[in-house]
Formats: sequence, structure tokens, C-alpha cells
Amino acid sequence: MTKIPFNRPDAVGAELANIADALGRGHLSGDGYYTKRCHQWLEQRLGCQRALLTHSCTGALDMAAILCDLKPGDEVIMPSYTFVSTANAFAMRGAVPVFVDVRADTINIDERLIEAAITPRTRAIAVVHYAGLACEMDAIMAIAQRHDLLVVEDAAQALLSTYKGRPLGTIGHFGCFSFHETKNVLSGEGGALIINDERFVERAEIVREKGTDRSRFLRGEVDKYTWVDLGSSYLPSELIAAFLDAQLAHADKVIARRRAVCARYSVGLSELAASGAMEIPPEVPADRLANGHIFYVLADSLATRVALAVDLKSHDVHSVSHYVPLHSSPGGRKFARAHGNFTVTDDISDRLLRLPLYFGITDAQVDAVIDAVKAFYSKRAAGR
Ligand SMILES: *Cc1c(COP(=O)(O)O)cnc(C)c1O
Repeated sequence: MTKIPFNRPDAVGAELANIADALGRGHLSGDGYYTKRCHQWLEQRLGCQRALLTHSCTGALDMAAILCDLKPGDEVIMPSYTFVSTANAFAMRGAVPVFVDVRADTINIDERLIEAAITPRTRAIAVVHYAGLACEMDAIMAIAQRHDLLVVEDAAQALLSTYKGRPLGTIGHFGCFSFHETKNVLSGEGGALIINDERFVERAEIVREKGTDRSRFLRGEVDKYTWVDLGSSYLPSELIAAFLDAQLAHADKVIARRRAVCARYSVGLSELAASGAMEIPPEVPADRLANGHIFYVLADSLATRVALAVDLKSHDVHSVSHYVPLHSSPGGRKFARAHGNFTVTDDISDRLLRLPLYFGITDAQVDAVIDAVKAFYSKRAAGR
């Protein structure tokens, strides 16, 4: 059997032609023809106030943290089970990430734990839509409103997922997307900040353009541009935007395929899961739609998870585990605070294994992965 990688970034349309075209247009720095097309696509498809491409989701989160105007010691409540950038963005502003546990069913922040973690210093809630599956946004937005908090959606994994019909990334004050090569729609590195509150739009443009009013200058609203606020360079080059434009044009096709792969894994492993040997993701709640970003299995223990990954690798099937919970990471201990216990986070982190999932994976390859997982468990059942 040929090697089945965990991820493979594929071109799905006119990526290379777009890049050649961008070159021909004689403008390769940011905010040219292709960046504008990507902004339009995001604003139309998501129905959002304003979309701004960034060089990464990390950059979009950094921008959101700057726009939240945090002072040293301010607190931001978030899950511990997430990628480092969710926390780092706020820690870099001198704010303190405050971690709470996740729900066992969605692996998303447990909204029932948020209110008890609020202090007079709390300014924001940063939610993460794990595997592109929505958090309990109605409850979270209600808490934010009651306590006058901003909500940042780390929607890195959640492009075109929905909650009660609303696209993720458009429900909180800010939404942050990633187009990293491991995500559904990709440009190698890449991201976008979605601004859902008019109050923040002008400052967002300034922060993204090195703290200058260059965006207003390019629109002819001022006759020269200068330093007006904090900022850095968050915009991607036109080469990245040209690649991304072609990916966005086929986003529905990519997501449909990824959802089909998840469904195939689910059906193929359902008997094994029913036997109690391992778990597969529960059915997605009827009020939300996930975008097929991740398919994972939960082994019964860390030892089994490690053994399964090693066994799969020996059959050239590459799987991946994540995350080291941030509350127990060196950075988390230095910069953040933990609220309550992390029973679910620690348990999931030990037992979760992601199976190969990318646009170009074939049904035969998915079946080979399913067979390899089943073979591992039947060997164990037989005591071999
Ligand atoms: C991938 C990811 C990020 C970081 O995205 P980059 O574009 O690589 O900066 C942040 N948060 C979550 C939840 C992610 O999955």
C-alpha cells in the first residue's frame, strides 16, 4: 500500500494561472486585485460587515487582541484545549488568558463554566470552534452581553460552518480564519479577520497597515498617509491572495468532499465504536453544520492512542494527535491562569487521534485507513 499522509495541500482550480496573472498585473504587495476579490468573496459568502486578509490566523488573532484595547492584567476567558495562538495573541498585549474546561460532546469551551470565571478584570471571551463545529453561541453571546464583554471567535477551522444558519466567524465581535495548508481552504500561510461591529472597522484597517491611515489614502480620503496608531504589517502579498482566490472559488467542492470523507470514516468505524473499543465523534447537533475539517477517534487511554498511531504508521498511515493543553504548558503556566479543573481537556488530549483527511484522499485510501484501524483493534482483542 502506498503511503497515506495525514494532510496533503492540493491545488483545486486556477491557483497557478492566478499567480501568473497577478505577476502580469505588476502589483505583488498587498491589497491589489486578488486581495480585493478575496475580501468580496468573504463579505458576500459570510454576509459580514468587513473582511480583511491577513498573513495568518495568528495575525488575525493578534489584530483582534489589539482592537480589544486590553490593558495589562485584563483577562480573556478561553478553552485550554486549543492552538497556542488563541492565547498568545492576548498574552502579547499583557492580558491574562483564563482557561476553562471544554465540553465532552463538542470539545468546545464549556459555556456553563464561563460565568464563574468572570472577574472585574474580564474583558473578552475567545471561543474556538473545534473541528469546525460551532460552540454554544447563543449562551456565550448572552453571557457577553450581560457582562459587557467582547467575543472573539477563533474560527481558524470553521470556514463556512454554521450555527443556527449563521456562518461561524460572524457571530462575535471578531472572527479569525486560517488558510494554513492544514486547513480546508488554503494558501500555504494565510488568514482573515472578520469585523462584525462597525465601531472597529476603521481602526482595524489602520492596525493592519503598520498603524498608518494608508487605507484611507488609497481610497482618496486623505492626501497623504502617516503614523496614527499601533499596528504592524498583517497583510499578505498578492501572490498569496491569487492562490487563495482560486481556493475560495472551489470552497464548496472541497468542503463537500471533506464531509463525505468524514461520513465514510464514521460509517466504516461505527461497528468498532459500537463494540466499545473506541469512540468516534457524536452526531453533529441539528442546529449546526460542520465543514468536515477534522475526523478523530478517541482511544480508551493514552497508551492505546500511542500504540494505535505507531501501528498505523507501520502501515504507512499517518495520524496526528493534539493539543498539549495550554493550562499545563510552560507558556500557559507563565502567562495564564487556570480556572477550575480540566478533566475533559486532559482526557481528550490523551485519547484523541486525527485520521488522514484532505481534499485529494480517495475512497480506497479512506477504506485502507479504516481497515488499518480495525486490524489494530482485532489484533489487540486477540491478544497479539
Ligand atoms: C490553525 C489554527 C490557528 C493558527 O492558524 P495560522 O493561520 O497557522 O496562524 C489558530 N487557532 C486554531 C484553533 C487553529 O486551528
